[in-house]
Amino acid sequence: MSSEGATNDHDVDAVIVGAGFAGIYALYRLRAMSLRVQGLEAAEDVGGTWYWNRYPGARCDVESMSYSYSFSPELEREWMWTERYASQPEILRYLQHVVDRFALRSLIRFRTRLTQAHWDAASGQWQLRTDTGESLTARFLVMATGCLSEPRLPAIPGIERFAGRIYQTSRWPREEVDFTGQRVAVIGTGSSGIQSIPVIARQTAHLTVFQRTPNFSVPAHNAPLDPRARQSLMENYPPFRRSLRESFTSLMPDSEQPSALALTAEERERRYRAAWDEGGIRLLFCISDAIISKPANDTLASFVHERIRETVKDPEIAVRLMPRDYPLGTKRLCVDTDYYATFNRSNVTLVDLRATPIVSASAQGLATSAAEFPLDSIVFATGFDAMTGALLALDIRGLGGRRLADAWHDGPRTYLGVATSGFPNLFMITGPGSPSVLSNMVISIEQHVDFIADLIAKMHERGASTAEVQSPAEQGWVEHVAEVAETTLFPQANSWYMGANVPGKPRVFLPYVGGVGAFRKQCHDIAAAGYAGFDLRR
Ligand code: FAD
Repeated sequence: MSSEGATNDHDVDAVIVGAGFAGIYALYRLRAMSLRVQGLEAAEDVGGTWYWNRYPGARCDVESMSYSYSFSPELEREWMWTERYASQPEILRYLQHVVDRFALRSLIRFRTRLTQAHWDAASGQWQLRTDTGESLTARFLVMATGCLSEPRLPAIPGIERFAGRIYQTSRWPREEVDFTGQRVAVIGTGSSGIQSIPVIARQTAHLTVFQRTPNFSVPAHNAPLDPRARQSLMENYPPFRRSLRESFTSLMPDSEQPSALALTAEERERRYRAAWDEGGIRLLFCISDAIISKPANDTLASFVHERIRETVKDPEIAVRLMPRDYPLGTKRLCVDTDYYATFNRSNVTLVDLRATPIVSASAQGLATSAAEFPLDSIVFATGFDAMTGALLALDIRGLGGRRLADAWHDGPRTYLGVATSGFPNLFMITGPGSPSVLSNMVISIEQHVDFIADLIAKMHERGASTAEVQSPAEQGWVEHVAEVAETTLFPQANSWYMGANVPGKPRVFLPYVGGVGAFRKQCHDIAAAGYAGFDLRR
C-alpha cells in the first residue's frame, strides 16, 4: 500500500464518494490502513442525510443510543445523546464532531460531485471526473453515496409559474424558514411529510396536506433521555451493540414473540397497546409474523386503524388517513409526534389525490381535478429514487466500457450489496441487495465498510491488485435476495423498496430482508472462505 495520510493528490489509492455516516467511517478505516484516500462530497459540509434534510421536525426514527457509531469506545464514552430520538441538528453536530475528532475533514473535497467514473483496464485504475472539472485516478472507488440521497420531484404542469416559494424536505435551506401567516401545501405523506406536517401546521395560517397514499404511523413518544438510564446503557455499550448486530432487525435486540394468530383478541389488544404506548417501531415486532402472514398483519393494521379513528375527530378524514391497500410495515413504518391529531386543527385540510389528483400549478397555487388552492409556499416531501438513484445518477463504466445503467437495466445486480460483476474495485456501502434501509443503517454501514476494508487488506496480503465479483456468485445472490423477499408480504406493496415510486424503474425488491445478523454471518463466512465469489487478481 502507498504512503499514509491526507492528500489532495490526483492519483490516490481510494476515492470515497459521499461524506455521510458511510463516507466518514470509510475514510477513517481506509486511512488507518495507510491508504491514500480522497473524499468527494457534493454538499458544502459533512452529514449526508443530516446535512440535506433540515426540515422542521426532522429526526431519526431509530433510537439515538442505537443510531450511532460503535467503532470507537472513546467516542461512545464522550458523546451524550439528549433525546430518545435525536433531532437533525443534534445528529449533524455529532457527525461534525466525529469528523473533527478524527481529523478527517482535510481528506474531503466539498462542493465536488463525481460525475464520471471509467475503469481503465490497462492501468487497473478508475479514471474519475468531477463537476468542478477535476480529474482523478484511484485503484478503489467506494460509493458511499447514500440509499436515500437522490430526491424525487413529481412533474406538475405549470409548476415553474408558481409565484410563491417552493421547498423540498430533502434540500431544506440552511436559513430559518418562517411560515407564519402563510398558506402552505405539503405534498407527500411519507416519513418526511409525517414528521414535518405537525410542526408546519403550528406555524401556518393554513396548511393543505396533499396525500396520495396514506401511511401507517406509530407515536414516537420522544422525550429527553433519563441521565441514569443513559449512563447505564453507555457503560454497557459493547454487549448492547453486539446484541443489535446479531439481531434480525438491528433496531432492537431479538426477543421471542408469539404469532398473532396464537393469541386471543384480548391478548393481542393488550400486547399491541403496550407496544403503542411504548412508542416507535416495536409495534411491528411485538408478534413474530407481522411481515410474513397477512392474517397476522391484518390484526395489527386494524389496531392502528382504531387508533386513527379514536384520534381524528372527523370520521371521514379518519377513513382517508387509514391505509388499506398494503400490509402494515411493507412501506416504511413512520414514527411521529402528533401526526394524526394534527388533522383536528381548524387550519389543516387533507386532500386525497387518489380521488382528486393535482392537475396543474399556476402563479397563485395548485389546482386539483376538484378545486383550486391559493398558496404562498409549497413543500415537496416526495421522497427519493431509493438505493439505485445516486449510483445511476453518474456515468459509471466498467470492463469493456459497459455502463452500470445498462448492466442494471432490469434492476440492480450485486453480490452482498457491496460489489457488482464487471466493475472491478468498485464498492458500494449498503448497496441494493443488502439489509440497508430495512436495518439500523449505522450498523449496516459499519459492517459493509469493515467488509470492504478487510477485503482490501486481504488483496494486499495476496499481492492482488483487482477484486471482481464472479457472475455465478452474483446470480446466486440476486436470486437469494428475491426468494427471501417472496416469503414475506413486502412485494404486495407499491413501495419505494420495490422501486414503485419512480416511473419506469424496474420493479425489484431492493433491500435484503433475510435479517441483519444472518447477513453479517454470511459475509463473515464468505470472508473466512477467502472471499468466495470474488476473483482477487494480480
Ligand atoms: P447519506 O447520508 O445519504 O450521504 C450520501 C452523501 O453522498 C450525500 O451527502 C450526497 O451529497 C453525497 N453524494 C451522492 N452522490 C454524490 C456524487 N456523485 N458526488 C459527490 N457526492 C455525492 N436510517 C436509520 O437507520 N435510522 C433513521 O432513523 C433514519 N432516519 C432518516 C431520516 C431521513 C429524513 C432520511 C432521508 C433518511 C433516514 N435514514 C435513517 C436513512 C439514512 O439515509 C441513513 O441512516 C444514513 O444517514 C445514510 O448515510 P450514508 O452515508 O450512507 O448516505
